[in-house]
Amino acid sequence: MTSPETPVETCDRLIVGGPVITLDGEDRVFSHGAIAITGTTIAAIGEAAELEARFSPRETLRAEDCIVLPGLINSHNHTPLTIVRGMIEDRNFAPSYTSGIPAVHSLSFEDTLALARLGCYEMLRSGSTTVVDYFRCPKALAIAASEMGVRAVIGGRIHDADTEALAQGRYEHRPEIGNATLKETFDLIEDPLLKGNDRIRVDFAPHAADTCSKALLTEVAGLVSRHGGNVHTHLAQSPGEVAYVRERDGMAPHEVFADAGLLNSRLIAAHCVFLKPEDVAAVGRAGMAVAHAPHQNVMAGNIAPIRDLEAAGARITLCTDTRSADLFEAMRLAIGSARIRQKGYEPKAPQVLRWATTSAAAALGLDGITGSLEVGKRADLILLDRRQPNLVPLIDGCGIVVYSGHAANVRTVIVDGRVLLEDGRPTLFDGREVARRAQAVAARLWGECGLRPLIAD
Ligand SMILES: [Zn+2]
Repeated sequence: MTSPETPVETCDRLIVGGPVITLDGEDRVFSHGAIAITGTTIAAIGEAAELEARFSPRETLRAEDCIVLPGLINSHNHTPLTIVRGMIEDRNFAPSYTSGIPAVHSLSFEDTLALARLGCYEMLRSGSTTVVDYFRCPKALAIAASEMGVRAVIGGRIHDADTEALAQGRYEHRPEIGNATLKETFDLIEDPLLKGNDRIRVDFAPHAADTCSKALLTEVAGLVSRHGGNVHTHLAQSPGEVAYVRERDGMAPHEVFADAGLLNSRLIAAHCVFLKPEDVAAVGRAGMAVAHAPHQNVMAGNIAPIRDLEAAGARITLCTDTRSADLFEAMRLAIGSARIRQKGYEPKAPQVLRWATTSAAAALGLDGITGSLEVGKRADLILLDRRQPNLVPLIDGCGIVVYSGHAANVRTVIVDGRVLLEDGRPTLFDGREVARRAQAVAARLWGECGLRPLIAD
């Protein structure tokens, strides 16, 4: 308790809750909590009455009608591929392997930027404060994340397979393609845009073991050992990938990563669906992280063996990949699909909420910065409107968020102490204009594929 003699401290902003779910080491939850923010950092966290007596804030954010949570972390995305959303799900499993869709491999910089802004805006609107995003034109992705204020790990999509041949079902590896895609990552690392911006990090992101030759993956491993950060990829996403790699290299995709020097705790691999038990044991032993994409899994009809991966030592994070950016939906799908895939396995709400927060932060090497609400960490947090009917009744906190919450409940998003979303509206940019421009790009490019879009912009 604060004694009358305690000097009143200043802070920039005091958020007065509402229940505060910290996800700290002790799993503390305050029913009437508060968070004091100074600069970019959480200065104090505790009961509202205590912090209101202790702090004289420059600004108070009344959030009694909200649930306060750590910002969510979406661990694997390609924002320009929002262009295929709602159009590809009935056609094939992934854009890189599909013909008859807009030429996502040769999007102009401006078109990429318009789509990256849409994808990044959607993630922010859905409560993600940290996003991983990689694709061609990584500078466009970095610009979008920088403009919107989110924390981001950005990569250029590295591969040496010819994408046009791939869309026709043929693998043709060319070193010049590998060099060109590596150059996009090198250029971004050197780009003045990122100087002094500690919210955005550049990582290496080789697309997959089938679209990268072993020589290219080995080269990436050498670069990563000097540069640091994570390595992001797709692993065992399809039977076709596994079969081709076995034919090309005589081994499973994860073994190609191991041979190249990339199968270790730096690796964050999306999907991990088509793994044999011995493969699961190997990737688990390596301490690799899985970017689990349950929405993708469910729609493709194949579920990653998450229970076995976790039991083997792999760390689990959650992502939405090219689907709806609603991580609340992803949490539910992760639980439901796990229960179908492995009978008797019942991941619980608190565990899955950690996949989308603390576990992802640790996998990204950002656990000293974000993922939970703790003194000294950056103020990355979200406020959910608990008066919306789907968040009632609020009894234990965690269950209602995971089993009934959705992106539209996100009212406020704060990153590095800065309010990026207020009453559902972005503060740094015009969200309606971002959506309009992305619609115009998508309508034009789908039109060029012979479809007549419902609406132009
Ligand atoms: Zn992906």
